[in-house]
Amino acid sequence: MRALAVCVLLLTCILAPTVQAQQPDLTQEHWYHTYATLTVDVNAWADDYPDIVDLTVAGQTELGRNLWVVRISDWSNDTKPDGSLKDIVYIDGGHHGNEHLGTELAFLTAEHYIEGWAAKDPEVVRVLTTTEIHVLVMLNADGNDINTRWNINQVDLNRNYDHHWNEHDETQPGSGPFSEAETLANSIYMNTVVPRADLYVTMHTGVWIMLYPWGIVPEQPIDWELFHGIREEVHANISSIPIQNANQGLYPNSGTSRDYGYGIMGFPTFTFETDDEQWLPGSLESLTSRLGEELDVMEYLISNVWYWRARLTVDALALTGDMLTAKVTNHGMATTANASLEYLDETGEVQWASPLFTVNATNATSVSFSFDQTILSSNGVWNLNYQKRIINSAMWVNETQLDVALDSESTDDDRFLTGFGVFNPFSVVVSFIGVSVVLDRRNRDALHVNDAKEPRQA
Ligand SMILES: [Zn+2]
Repeated sequence: MRALAVCVLLLTCILAPTVQAQQPDLTQEHWYHTYATLTVDVNAWADDYPDIVDLTVAGQTELGRNLWVVRISDWSNDTKPDGSLKDIVYIDGGHHGNEHLGTELAFLTAEHYIEGWAAKDPEVVRVLTTTEIHVLVMLNADGNDINTRWNINQVDLNRNYDHHWNEHDETQPGSGPFSEAETLANSIYMNTVVPRADLYVTMHTGVWIMLYPWGIVPEQPIDWELFHGIREEVHANISSIPIQNANQGLYPNSGTSRDYGYGIMGFPTFTFETDDEQWLPGSLESLTSRLGEELDVMEYLISNVWYWRARLTVDALALTGDMLTAKVTNHGMATTANASLEYLDETGEVQWASPLFTVNATNATSVSFSFDQTILSSNGVWNLNYQKRIINSAMWVNETQLDVALDSESTDDDRFLTGFGVFNPFSVVVSFIGVSVVLDRRNRDALHVNDAKEPRQA
């Protein structure tokens, strides 16, 4: 009898899978990912959804584990349907190996878009045709395996970034900025793969709160309008989660990935802290319902990534004598203080550039400059050159104002002259020039509804 029991036990051991993937909707006791189960799950995604999941590694941990990055988009097209560049979202989780709930929110966010695509959810399809979502689910896989905050060198990875490193006498910040393989790899990924990102969310577990920069100083960031605008929309439509600058909302800190993401990369950055009720034993609540409200916030941030920067268009140009007046609209929710209008000749050489001017978030302005119309040529073009946000590190963009059309006498759209070269010296006598909007304003207006919980149709 005892021999039979041993046989059954042995057989059970042999038949049991050595690695059990942990898909969500299992109960709380079981759903925290280990490095092994995460590896199974992300590779299964890549195998099952090759059209939208591009799995890569950002590097390795100190012990050589892969830093998996799940890249999600409709990879059948490199651009949006209108030919413009896709928006980019960057998410990481698991800086602290014992903060499992935050790591699971990163996993769940990726899963939402993968399963939504498979289910043909129209909003998910819209997002994935216009956006790349890069999710590095577990940065500190070594610490996760032994359930500790630190990495294997006993370093706090979220104090190890090269932004005012250790200025607040942090606990275990490492021997120097980027002394650890994990943080160095993350910064290289930011700088080389997603430098254009217009959203960076880094996920943790602690007090239920979203923290925007700065941690290093108590002052509001210079792009405060963007962060406050997002806070207003989240609180009005989605969640009452507190949203504060990190220094005051949590405590002063230095060398964090959040301050690096904003201060060095120029990303709009949030630390997303799930609550700390992760150790309650015996809960039967599923992951998706446990983190449903947090996922709603993430969907809002991702669906509206287009707005998290300045988005300028020239709506009208008027030339009166030697004065050029431009009506410029900012469709985005970030202010730019560093905009200039440029005139390029047919060879692409800048013939004229205006002084820098400011366009406030979600606003329009008229700016006038002295202008020598003798530089106008038949195939010249107008460019807007501006910074996506005000922070020094924010990326500059140079956007040609296409589809320029001339209006003979007024701004009436029905009276465009045809057959004249744009700014041909002979047609410059017209006083008003209508400039149609490059970026899709209809799309923007349709998107900017107030109820962020509703799917936003383009
Ligand atoms: Zn943390």
